[in-house]
Amino acid sequence: MTVEPVAEPLVGFRRWGCRRGALYSGIFVAGRFVPNPALAMIAPRVKPVPWPTDQDRVAKCFALRGHDAPQRDCNCGFSAYYELPAEPDLPAPDAIWGAIAAWGLIIECERGFRAQYARPIALLDRHNPDDHGERGRRAANAAEAYDIPLLEHAELVAYAGWHGELRAA
Ligand SMILES: [Zn+2]
Repeated sequence: MTVEPVAEPLVGFRRWGCRRGALYSGIFVAGRFVPNPALAMIAPRVKPVPWPTDQDRVAKCFALRGHDAPQRDCNCGFSAYYELPAEPDLPAPDAIWGAIAAWGLIIECERGFRAQYARPIALLDRHNPDDHGERGRRAANAAEAYDIPLLEHAELVAYAGWHGELRAA
């Protein structure tokens, strides 16, 4: 694991919880999406904030003794996998996959990284048989809101490679 500022953005792939055109960080538990559980622990009344549509997102740490994110011995920062799985799992109806460009401070791990700055660059067009919300347009609504393309698997990987360094190979 190394920590180093990078010149060229790294690109990676990740899941979000997606609601009404907004992408949220969070976890998936027993078929449900839980937005930002770390924030919910320290501030249960604070509404989760989606990734902004019009600017880069800056990582925050929600650990008790906050620090600049990301840090090596924490799990803060925007996480992504180097590789888009062949069959990306959709553990909840509102789960969607996409690619991010990330830069600033980067913590590299075995299968992915955590980054200081990130923005979504494209979303995966993948049918989710469990999703009956938003008239089947959940991912399309988000792609519109963030003004990014909705792409098939191979297209998404290629498109991501145009936006930064792809370490999947
Ligand atoms: Zn942290």
